[in-house]
Amino acid sequence: MSDCLFCTIAAGEISVDVVYEDDKVLAFRDIDPQAPTHVLVIPREHFDNVSEMTRDNPLLAAEVLAATTEVAQLETLERGYRVVTNVGTDGGQSVRHVHFHVLGGRGLTWPPG
Ligand code: AMP
Repeated sequence: MSDCLFCTIAAGEISVDVVYEDDKVLAFRDIDPQAPTHVLVIPREHFDNVSEMTRDNPLLAAEVLAATTEVAQLETLERGYRVVTNVGTDGGQSVRHVHFHVLGGRGLTWPPG
């Protein structure tokens, strides 16, 4: 989608700090980190949210989730970490291209705001 920020990033047209990539998945540091490690994991293909991706391509959804584990290992988050995906307005989703936040490097509180 030409007007999608994360499609533009996946196409390499906006510079990001890449942590992991393969032919289907890209992981890069969040521009506004909420923890010492804050990485976004996205499929290169556009889906609005996790529900759409899981419905239309469950194998890809599994690969994106597996990439969150890869990121946690690369970032040596052996004390633990959090994987979050926001959906829609009430979920606090600001970018309508599915992404998983991988947060770690400090103790994270619960519940979220
Ligand atoms: P969400 O609010 O769940 O949709 O998350 C979107 C995330 O994208 C936020 O944490 C933003 O800080 C992050 N973000 C927005 N633009 C960029 C960018 N150009 N590079 C890296 N992260 C970004």
